[in-house]
Amino acid sequence: MKEKNALISILIPVHNEAANLEWHHQKIKKILSKNKLAHEIIYIEDGSTDDSQSVIKRIVESDSSTKYVIFSRNFGKEAAITAGLQKASGDAVMIIDADGQHPIEMIDQFIAKWREGYDVVIGVRKSNQGEGFIKSAGSKLFYSLLKLVDNKGDIVPGSTDFRLLDRKVVDEYNQLTERNRVSRNLIDWLGFKQATIPFDAHQRHAGVASYSYAKLVKLAIDGAIKHSTRPLKLIGILGILISSLSFVAFAFLLVERFILPDPLHLAVTGTAFLAIFLSFLVGIVLACQGLLALYVENIYYEAQNRPLFIIREKK
Ligand code: UDP
Ligand code: MG
Repeated sequence: MKEKNALISILIPVHNEAANLEWHHQKIKKILSKNKLAHEIIYIEDGSTDDSQSVIKRIVESDSSTKYVIFSRNFGKEAAITAGLQKASGDAVMIIDADGQHPIEMIDQFIAKWREGYDVVIGVRKSNQGEGFIKSAGSKLFYSLLKLVDNKGDIVPGSTDFRLLDRKVVDEYNQLTERNRVSRNLIDWLGFKQATIPFDAHQRHAGVASYSYAKLVKLAIDGAIKHSTRPLKLIGILGILISSLSFVAFAFLLVERFILPDPLHLAVTGTAFLAIFLSFLVGIVLACQGLLALYVENIYYEAQNRPLFIIREKK
């Protein structure tokens, strides 16, 4: 239902954002009421150690369109998004960071795309003001590596959790059972009609980012591993390559040294033969590992237990 009176759920994961919440809430309310959108706002309080919890409770008391889920401890943003998507009852769900980095004023553009008929509208970061060099270089590197190993080949660099999902996408997402998840990759995997909207990320309104570099690296690795088994197979290909090259070098030296009487004057010693023989063996080992990888891949897909297909519509 994408009519005028559709209900929009705004989903906000919160971890130590006490200094941002009031300001952020007012800003969202202003946009939503300006556009006369029926809405609910859902805060997922992800084990903050500051005042976030009491600030959220205060907001919810004064605003009946607001709900909250409070975690028993910090489970991470991915878990928060999952919980929020289960709680949301809207015809569309918009996911927004609580720190003001995602431009709230663009919500109506997301909704407009959704009304055009898109099921997933993805915010793609153009720039990130105030984001350190390491973080932005890291993100670039991550996306180029991910592109390299991508099984499906449709990763959009800079795509973020700032996105809007149609009810049917949310329902499908809620069926997924895997535990270790990167929600944006899973949403991409679900398919449906996707649109992107480029945006400039703002600076944090207040506070510090909860994601340490270590956490980001873990997220990146999780993302790559969950997304693709190609790294496993690359090892096998590397092995085959090493063995083949060694074999060619071996044959060349054999002919040069023993069959022809050393016309290039290489004076090849036994050590050289040994070295080449060893690298040949290393190649064989890696190739066998690649073979194992094919079996592991199979187990991996079985263990993920994802449904085999997703139905887009039903009558
Ligand atoms: N967040 C969360 N749980 C966490 C870490 C972060 O719910 O363990 C929330 C945080 O409150 C914010 C959003 O996820 O609304 C993005 O976090 P952050 O700003 O720390 O990360 P970055 O901007 O670097 O992606
Ligand atoms: Mg942030």
